[in-house]
Amino acid sequence: MNFADLGLSDELLQAVEAAGYSEPTPIQAQAIPSVLMMKDLIGIAQTGTGKTASFVLPMIDVLAHGRRRALMPRSLILEPTRELAAQVADNFEKYGKNHDLKMALLIGGVQMGDQVKALQEGVDVLIATPGRLMDLFERGKILLTGCELLVIDEADRMLDMGFIPDIETICAKLPTNRQTLLFSATMPPVIKKLADRFLENPKYIEVARPASTNTNIEQFKVPVTSRKKREALRELLHTDNVSTAIIFCNRKTTVRDLAKNLKSHGFKAGEIHGDMDQASRIAELDYFKSGAINILVASDVAARGLDVKGVSHVFNYDTPWHPDDYVHRIGRTGRGGATGRAFTLITPEDAEAVENVEKLTGGAIPLYAGLANGDADYQAAPAKTADDAAPASKRRKRPAKADAGKSAQRAPKSDAPRKEPAAKVPAPEPAPAKPEVREEAPAAPARSARRKAPRAQAEVAAHSAFDGMDWNGPVPGFLNISALS
Ligand code: AMP
Repeated sequence: MNFADLGLSDELLQAVEAAGYSEPTPIQAQAIPSVLMMKDLIGIAQTGTGKTASFVLPMIDVLAHGRRRALMPRSLILEPTRELAAQVADNFEKYGKNHDLKMALLIGGVQMGDQVKALQEGVDVLIATPGRLMDLFERGKILLTGCELLVIDEADRMLDMGFIPDIETICAKLPTNRQTLLFSATMPPVIKKLADRFLENPKYIEVARPASTNTNIEQFKVPVTSRKKREALRELLHTDNVSTAIIFCNRKTTVRDLAKNLKSHGFKAGEIHGDMDQASRIAELDYFKSGAINILVASDVAARGLDVKGVSHVFNYDTPWHPDDYVHRIGRTGRGGATGRAFTLITPEDAEAVENVEKLTGGAIPLYAGLANGDADYQAAPAKTADDAAPASKRRKRPAKADAGKSAQRAPKSDAPRKEPAAKVPAPEPAPAKPEVREEAPAAPARSARRKAPRAQAEVAAHSAFDGMDWNGPVPGFLNISALS
């Protein structure tokens, strides 16, 4: 199977070729023809499977014909985090270069001025995080009545972040005759209900979870005591042919401290976490992508879904509290057919978390025996307390999700763990609260009819789709980054 068999236009095929992709991934092969036929779709797939292109490519052809109107985006893509939204925008930039499509990115943490200006000029594709979209909608700066294609990406992540009520509100404001695509790594009952309510006779596609099937990632757990973690990490960084690494920590303070420590030991390290403003996060990512630094210490949410080419190693400096995070973390390496190595430092206190990860990924992670003395120290660690021995259900509880997400995108609270840590682990930092700015919502929009399926042969655009948007690498000009610094 190649891309030409999927019904994409010649302009798009040229852009795909220029991006260097010769064969569609399984999700692309299954999703693209369906989306081109204007069908609703549920895609059970994680990042790393090529799912972004599975909706971006056909969307470009679906939107190739049609007129932009002020304040009325023609399509909407909802993403849980700013980074993912920016990454999807990056994909539109890459694949849409032969089409006359305008996009706008609505994400928190940047000034609204340029975003509103782009909307006023009319956009074909609006990529947004739910919180910022709701803010603008409620200020009357946007109308969703002309939005005939909706993508809800990373739906289970949206659920974790408390965005489902916002998504329901947004869905209800779109025309009922729209096309809806929903992507999720898992299908918990709430997402199933959402799909039942807002999708019509969807095609269902499921592709394998990368963590359980991606044999390109060699995984190890490294037994070590808390005291020796930094030393063990440095040893691994020195001895395992690390060219580029992302190191995950469970807390923002650990991210900061570890990055500082690595720098003091001569490593070219940077950091990314939810307490940093958008400009600093993007700057740090750019350093990493350009090779100015080769080690990025990160928190889960800040790094979620990041697509950086050629990451040779992922280190879990802390074993993640939530097993899904393990899957997302190690998925930063071994991408696009490359090989990668993932090391998880495990202390005796992490036993339960490791067990949960292994349950989820379906097998024991091999022990790494290459450290000078990590294992010996691990064995000498104190035995579990009676409290530790209590059943997991008695010791750990998920925090209530109901109020967790309304302003999740405005406050970096998403870096807080979704689960309380085990008894011996100190409490995570509280997320700083920011005021919520909401105003009266405009009246419910009128319904519009679904268009006939456009076919893919669009005319070559007279000018670039992104003229005037000053997209420079991963940092789009309309993010108005300078206003933040
Ligand atoms: P995603 O699942 O969308 O995060 O994509 C994961 C990675 O796969 C990204 O680096 C994409 O650029 C890359 N990718 C997407 N489609 C293909 C393809 N057909 N062949 C090879 N790599 C791809």
